[in-house]
Amino acid sequence: MRKVRKGDRVKVISGNDKGKIGRVLVVYPERERIIVENVRMITKHQRATQTMREPGIVRREGTIHISNVLPICSDCGLPTRVGFTVVDGDKMRRCNQCGKAFR
Ligand SMILES: [Zn+2]
Repeated sequence: MRKVRKGDRVKVISGNDKGKIGRVLVVYPERERIIVENVRMITKHQRATQTMREPGIVRREGTIHISNVLPICSDCGLPTRVGFTVVDGDKMRRCNQCGKAFR
């Protein structure tokens, strides 16, 4: 059970993108890193290859560490540290702000 999951809205709490809010696109659990839309944009200079004939500049998201974000509670809308709780035998995350359980 992870504190941050794919599809979550999260708020960035440190680094250059501090304060930004975005959706989690990818989670790399073994490295505890995630990709958040429009956060940590990096510019790659793409060379022409056989499959991509147009060289150019590609902007895409880089990874950030999971500890740099807080999930935003879908109930109270606040960025929150999450706890865990069990509801009807299901392990759920729990918002530390409002106490509501969520998946
Ligand atoms: Zn909440």
